[in-house]
Amino acid sequence: MSDTTTPSDTPAPSRHFIRQIIDRDLAEGKNDGRVITRFPPEPNGYLHIGHAKSICLNFGLAEEYGGQCHLRYDDTNPAAEEMEYVEAIERDVRWLGFDWGKHHYFASDYFEPFYRYAEELIQKGKAYVCTLSPEAFKEYRGVPTRPGKESPSRNRPPAESLDLFRRMRAGKFADGQYVLRAKIDMASPNLHMRDPVLYRIKRIHHHRTGEDWCIYPMYDFAHCISDAIEGITHSICTLEFEVHRPLYDWILEQISAPAHPQQIEFARLNLSYTVMSKRRLLQLVQEKHVAGWDDPRMPTICGMRRRGYPPEAIRTFCETIGVTKYDSMTEMELLEHCVRENLNKHALRRMAVLNPLRVVITNFPDTPAIDVKAVNNPEDTDAGTRTMAFTRELFIEREDFAEEPPPKFFRLAPGKSVRLRYAGFLTCERVEHDPATGDIAALHCRWDPPETKVKVKATIHWVSADQAREIEVRLYDRLFTVPDPMEVKDADFKRHLNPRSLSTVIARAEPALLDAAPGESFQFERTGYFCADMKDSRPGAPVFNQTAALKAVRAKKG
Ligand code: ATP
Ligand code: MG
Repeated sequence: MSDTTTPSDTPAPSRHFIRQIIDRDLAEGKNDGRVITRFPPEPNGYLHIGHAKSICLNFGLAEEYGGQCHLRYDDTNPAAEEMEYVEAIERDVRWLGFDWGKHHYFASDYFEPFYRYAEELIQKGKAYVCTLSPEAFKEYRGVPTRPGKESPSRNRPPAESLDLFRRMRAGKFADGQYVLRAKIDMASPNLHMRDPVLYRIKRIHHHRTGEDWCIYPMYDFAHCISDAIEGITHSICTLEFEVHRPLYDWILEQISAPAHPQQIEFARLNLSYTVMSKRRLLQLVQEKHVAGWDDPRMPTICGMRRRGYPPEAIRTFCETIGVTKYDSMTEMELLEHCVRENLNKHALRRMAVLNPLRVVITNFPDTPAIDVKAVNNPEDTDAGTRTMAFTRELFIEREDFAEEPPPKFFRLAPGKSVRLRYAGFLTCERVEHDPATGDIAALHCRWDPPETKVKVKATIHWVSADQAREIEVRLYDRLFTVPDPMEVKDADFKRHLNPRSLSTVIARAEPALLDAAPGESFQFERTGYFCADMKDSRPGAPVFNQTAALKAVRAKKG
């Protein structure tokens, strides 16, 4: 619970355990009162909403405590890394509202210091070059319940290891022929402490250092040293690194590191009805289950941007879910709720009919059109009003009419009346059927102006049939049909893909919608929130992505 009070309606940030740690550190004068965090993405994919949690946490804490947050690419594993991802990551972090200032780093900038620290470890007798094959390595390492076996290379004199290590760097050996290992404890119950590999030989092009190196450091070695070089005070990572922490600390204790940051672990975000691993998201893209990383159904930040999720809503979501040490599943509905709350305040209201049914007014006055005034946003009086043309022929939503209304159907039905938003009342006098198909072709209705006293129980939206324009609207459903597509490990998560996650309709929109700027969000009255697509919209011809329904689709549990 929060133990602070803040004025007005801004929710007090919860004093989650990381804030408590930092508060204590500051009270004790640790790190000279500095708070320096970092966000360390591996540039091997686009960022997703899970990364947003980490970004909001790291950049947010730095902001809150007047510190700084570094953007550091963890690019020590060259196999899968690309510059395309680097650019995308920066766009996404900025869009979320954060700024790294001048603190923009690549772990690959530290290849030389990493190497020097490795030599230092060797010279201190804390690391050795090992000849075990990968298979033997595994066998010697053993299982947590039984001590492992020491490698025959373990007692190699430091001078000999140093010579071999230098020749590893010089490219004298084949890939995989030797590795550099820390000399820690082959009996440790923590397998990460059983003489872990620090360096391996890998002849592979690196996106920044090219062919300069043929040995590359392992994550555990590179990460803690990168943190130390940058003077990070709080190195915040996800729970799976808890078992790596003893190694993080061990390495920093052995070498003459300039600092010893504190590693703090928190539970990663898991979100229902989606998957959250770059590897799996890449699979969806490569196998064309989605149109790309920025497909609006993707849990990626660029997908959510294209979908119309405001960055403030994502930040509110990240603050709302809090930070804990317990793995759990967060409901997608919560994210959608944050999006809706935000758009309700800011999105302009417009009228669009997604599934049009023609209405002919039988008693329309002798005039081409009647101007009606429509409110742009009832939540924001500054948003003003606009004029809509009300004409003899309209489109209304097909679902707003029932020829044989079920009980409690309060909208339009034969002989029944309904209010038209901003434009009086309709009473259905006659239903016209298509003689060939028997389908409803049009409704013939009487119209009564707004000042008339007509008893109705519902209001519906409409557009003028002559004035309305056709727009393409993409409607989205969940990407997966089950809350946890990964529930059965090793089974193919793609069998849970929702075949109806995307449907496209041609809607009829009031003319004001045609000027929508790419990326602009609207509430289509009674229908939901929609955002003009950033890629496929053309001047005067926007394409709309459904951002969210107006209300939660699924009733909240419990
Ligand atoms: P993935 O598992 O999706 O491939 P990753 O952990 O390999 O993600 P990185 O690029 O290494 O991706 O992540 C950068 C930072 O984002 C790391 O500090 C990581 O802990 C954090 N992060 C990644 N996924 C989540 C998540 N679901 N919730 C919170 N933080 C996350
Ligand atoms: Mg990672």
